[in-house]
Amino acid sequence: MSAVSKLIAATIRSDVRAIGSYHVPDAGGYIKLDAMENPYELPEPLLRELGQRLADATLNRYPVASYSALKQRICAKLGVPAGYDVMLGNGSDELISILDMACALQERRAVVLAPSPSFVMYQRSAQFAGMDFVGVPLKDDLTLDLPAMLAAIAQHRPSLVYLSYPNNPTGNLFDADAIVAIIAALGETGIAVVDEAYEPFAQASFMERLPEFPNLVVMRTVSKLGLAGIRLGYMSAAPELLAQFDKVRPPYNINVLTQAAAEFALDHVDVLNQQAAQLRAARAELAGAMAALPGVTVFPSAANFILIRVPNADDAYAKLLDRKVLVKNVSKMHAVLSNCLRITVSTPEENAAFLDALQASLAA
Ligand code: PMP
Repeated sequence: MSAVSKLIAATIRSDVRAIGSYHVPDAGGYIKLDAMENPYELPEPLLRELGQRLADATLNRYPVASYSALKQRICAKLGVPAGYDVMLGNGSDELISILDMACALQERRAVVLAPSPSFVMYQRSAQFAGMDFVGVPLKDDLTLDLPAMLAAIAQHRPSLVYLSYPNNPTGNLFDADAIVAIIAALGETGIAVVDEAYEPFAQASFMERLPEFPNLVVMRTVSKLGLAGIRLGYMSAAPELLAQFDKVRPPYNINVLTQAAAEFALDHVDVLNQQAAQLRAARAELAGAMAALPGVTVFPSAANFILIRVPNADDAYAKLLDRKVLVKNVSKMHAVLSNCLRITVSTPEENAAFLDALQASLAA
């Protein structure tokens, strides 16, 4: 064994050694429909204005640690209820790990629970925080299995339950009454995190219902809205609860360039909302066009991506790659996703190119 191998065996956790890295394929030269990004860039005059704002940012000092001005603007513009604050993260990925770190218990292993399949970071982050993860399978029609969720909550007493609303990778919006039943079942011993990463495309939210539920956290991101590059997530909850999570947040976690870009984006949020409206219309068109292809099943989507089932997902995925189209092959993620691909909704041009490639891939 080399010296470095010995060092790794002596120091790095065995469960970390056993897993692979979070893999993101290199998409250079491909039509990129794998990561739920907004395909539209900001209009040229806005990009020039943003450049000026970034040039004005102070780089030699640490960022303002409290971010209070930016947080207030987020609360005012993005529908956070009066009396509620937000906490900011370097993407919602960071917020998930902060929640887990704050809730991991020392006296026994705490449990994180989520429907399965759902966003993979719920499981990975729980593992890194030293928590057990319980995945409760969705039903075959990809809806939430409420009796199974309630039974698992009674059995495992999770500290945290993550509910992606709409769900990634299935795209559907879980029944709001079922979510309320889960929040109620968690009561005073568990926190429900409603992850609204795709809220701009669902136009359904628990944000305004925060005052009804002291154990509810509502989490969002600007990533899918068109600002994946700035890495900014935010979450809201009862102020006392948020104050506990804030203790775990790394100091200065939002850099000055992200703060400046976020301030700028808030000034122009109507442009981003307009792009989201275009993508919602494109989603309906793309879903209709795919449903007309023989052998393709299209699942309902309230997000900026669509899940489809094809006769052979591995084959279709490879043939799409040959045609320079990158989608996400989720067929090995879970039994209910057999032969499923996840496609990000894009511009009319890219959607049309994808449809041509899909049609050719299925025929070949
Ligand atoms: N939650 C869900 C449900 C997601 O699908 C994603 C991104 N794939 C995230 C959170 C992470 O978003 P961010 O870019 O803010 O880290």
